[in-house]
Amino acid sequence: MSKIITRFAPSPTGHLHIGGARTALFCWLLARHYGGEFRLRIEDTDTERSKQEYTDAILASMRWLGLDWDGELTYQTQRTDRYNEVIDKMIESGHAYWCSCTPEEVEAMREAARAKGEKPRYDGRCRERGLDAGPGRVVRLKIPTEGRVVFDDMVKGHIATDVSELDDMILRRSDGMPTYNMAVVVDDHDMGITHVIRGDDHVSNTPKQILIYQALGWELPVFGHVPMILGKDRQKLSKRHGARSVVEYQNDGLLPHALVNCLVRLGWSHGDQELFSMQELIDLFDGKNLNSSASAFDPDKLLWFNAHYLRETPLDDLARLVLPFIHQKGFTGATEASIEPLVPLYRERAKNLIELADGIAQLLYKSADLPYDEAGVAKWLTDEGKEHVKVIRDQLAALPSFDKESIEHVIHSYVESLGVKFKMVAQPVRVAITGVIGGPGLPEFMLAIGKDETLARMDRGLTL
Ligand code: GLU
Repeated sequence: MSKIITRFAPSPTGHLHIGGARTALFCWLLARHYGGEFRLRIEDTDTERSKQEYTDAILASMRWLGLDWDGELTYQTQRTDRYNEVIDKMIESGHAYWCSCTPEEVEAMREAARAKGEKPRYDGRCRERGLDAGPGRVVRLKIPTEGRVVFDDMVKGHIATDVSELDDMILRRSDGMPTYNMAVVVDDHDMGITHVIRGDDHVSNTPKQILIYQALGWELPVFGHVPMILGKDRQKLSKRHGARSVVEYQNDGLLPHALVNCLVRLGWSHGDQELFSMQELIDLFDGKNLNSSASAFDPDKLLWFNAHYLRETPLDDLARLVLPFIHQKGFTGATEASIEPLVPLYRERAKNLIELADGIAQLLYKSADLPYDEAGVAKWLTDEGKEHVKVIRDQLAALPSFDKESIEHVIHSYVESLGVKFKMVAQPVRVAITGVIGGPGLPEFMLAIGKDETLARMDRGLTL
C-alpha cells in the first residue's frame, strides 16, 4: 500500500469545536496507524469571516490535544494562482467552458426546472457556445450527460449519484476566484492526500469533487464521511447539550486525553472497550469499525473520562498540564519539577485541573499570604482549638526529625492524652496550616510544605 496521507482542513471562522476535533483525531490516528502523514490546511477563502486569531486558536487546540501535523501549513488564500492555472487547463482541454448567463437567468432556469418537477439546475446553455473570458463570466465544468458518480465511502459504504442530480457547476466565479469544490480538489491532489475523512455535511460535495477529479484525469482519494455528533436528545449538537469548544474545555481544566478518549468513542469502537491510551488508539485505529450512525455526545461521560485520567495520568504529565493554572494563580516561579511531588496530594480529590491547582496552591502560599476560609476559622480556631494548635506546634518544633511517623506520633499521643475525638485536635491544626477544612492527610501536607512553613502557619493561625 502506498503511504497514507490524510488532512484536516478547518475553516478559521471560529474556534475548534468537538465535531472538528473528532474529524482531526480520526485523520491523525489513521495517518499515525499506518506510519503515514497528517497534513493541515487552512480553508480561509471566506475572507470576511476568516481570522488569523482563529487559525492560531485552532492550531493551539490541536497541539493541546496532541495532534501534531506534518509539513508546512497550507493556506488556500495563497493558492489562488494555482487553482486558476488548473481551471485554465480544463478550459483548454474542453472539460470546462466560459458561461455568460447572469444569476437572474440561472435562477429562471432553476425555476423552470422546479415548475416541471425536476431538480433545479443550470441547463448547460453556454456549453457549446465557445465563449471566451469576459466581464461577468464564470467558468463551468462540463459534466457527463449521463451516467452515475460512484464511490465506496469508508464509513457509509457504496454511494451512487446520477449525473442528472448534478449540473455544470461553477469552477471560477465572475470575480476570478475559484469555487470551494475546485480549490479542495486541487489541494487534495497537490498535497497527495490518499484519504479524505470529513463530516458528512460534505457528502453532497463529494460527487461534484469526483467529477472534477475525473475531468482532470487525477486519481481519486478514498473518502470517509463521519456522521455528525448529536446531543443527548439526538438533536443537532449545540451549547445547550453541554458542547463547548476545545479551548473552553482546556480553560475548564479538562485533561486533553479525556477529550480525546471521549471523542474517539463518538463514531469508532473496538469491541466494548471504553478506555484507550493514545498508543492503543494508534495501534488499533485502522479505518475500520467507523460507525455509520450518528453518536450522541454525553458531557457526563466526558467528566467520567476526566476523573479516570486524573488518577491515571503520569505525575510528570499532570504537573505539566496543571502548571499554567498554577501560574494563573500568581505562583509564577512554580516549575513542573517543583509541582510534581505535590500532585499526588490532591489528584484524588480534584475533578479537574482547576481544582488540582487550587489544592496545590494551598501548599505554595507563604504563611503570611495563605487565605483562610472564614467559616473554617470560626468553627475550629476557637480558644479551645487554638490551645490544641499551640501544644502541637511546640511539640512539632521540638522534634529532632520531622518525618511522617514522628508527626503522627505527636498528634495521636496528644489526642489520646486528652481523651477527645481525633477531629477536635486535627481540624484546628488543619485549618491553621491549610486555611480550609478539607484536604489531604496532615503529615503528608506538613511534609510537603516543610517544618518551618508548618510552624509559621500554625503561628499565624494562632493570631486569627
Ligand atoms: N473546511 C471544511 C470545513 O471546515 C472542510 C472540508 C473538507 O474537509 O473537505 O467543514
